[in-house]
Amino acid sequence: MTDDSVVVALDVGGTGMKCALVRPDGVVVRTERHPTDAARGPAAVVGTILDVAGGLADKARADGLTPIAVGIAVPGVVDEARGVAVWSANVGFRDVPLRDLTVTRLGLPTALGHDVRVGGLAEARLGAGRGTGHVLFVAIGTGIAAAHVVDGMAAVGAHGAAGEIGHILVRPDGPRCGCGRPGCLEAMASAAAIGRRYAELAGETADVPVTAAEVAERAAAGEPLAGQVWQEAIEALADGLASGQALFDVATIVLGGGLAQAGDRLLKPLRAALHERMTFHREPQLVAAALGDEAGCLGAALLALDTVGVRDLQEKR
Ligand SMILES: [Zn+2]
Repeated sequence: MTDDSVVVALDVGGTGMKCALVRPDGVVVRTERHPTDAARGPAAVVGTILDVAGGLADKARADGLTPIAVGIAVPGVVDEARGVAVWSANVGFRDVPLRDLTVTRLGLPTALGHDVRVGGLAEARLGAGRGTGHVLFVAIGTGIAAAHVVDGMAAVGAHGAAGEIGHILVRPDGPRCGCGRPGCLEAMASAAAIGRRYAELAGETADVPVTAAEVAERAAAGEPLAGQVWQEAIEALADGLASGQALFDVATIVLGGGLAQAGDRLLKPLRAALHERMTFHREPQLVAAALGDEAGCLGAALLALDTVGVRDLQEKR
């Protein structure tokens, strides 16, 4: 590693790719955004990923920098050990050997990671969980997923599927989840579920779909229906997080994703509901994510640095 080293980092989402060149000391020297345009099919998306990564490496060299590794974060089921994007609903990946394709195209060591897992990695090492050792990062958006990070390493699971906290059963009689089973946490408390539940209870008066953020706002303004829906979601989330705490005994739970933008409207009642559920368990700190939508890209950079044995980003930043 030399002083002009950088890693190429990509966070590939269903609609867009956040991309960056990141130095080992954590300084982001260049950022780019590109549309994913997943409707073109997975082969075209892979082509764009390789073009964008290659383009960033070329721009680094043109600026006198030396790209040393590539980190790519993707959604869905990811086999990090084999570097394969196994399955993704919103990008359409089916067993894409993305790591090997990138190594072949760019000639650089490459790491492939799961988007929520690398987001958790970044929040644990550089963001809201920094310095606390044991962190559970929970992303609440359209779905709910988590990453358990211990001393800066995110658990992957035997099959690449660790952290699916959205599919903890919290309400056996609850609505059916996207996974097919009724009563999953995700079916009760994701941003999408909150909007759906409000529309369902509001019946014919709901002419426009109401977002979870609006439900939170209306609840805070004293609307009884919104208050009920918001509280139901809080209780379900507290049940899910209490299960997470029973399993992992973390110091800090970091909440990210769109719903975390509700801030204290989410955190205050959720802290209280979680507190009620702690018996002998030690209560974790419950905090909002600090890195926003940069977390995935920074996490991809961390993975890339880990791949080439550079672990000083978190110390120096
Ligand atoms: Zn489920």
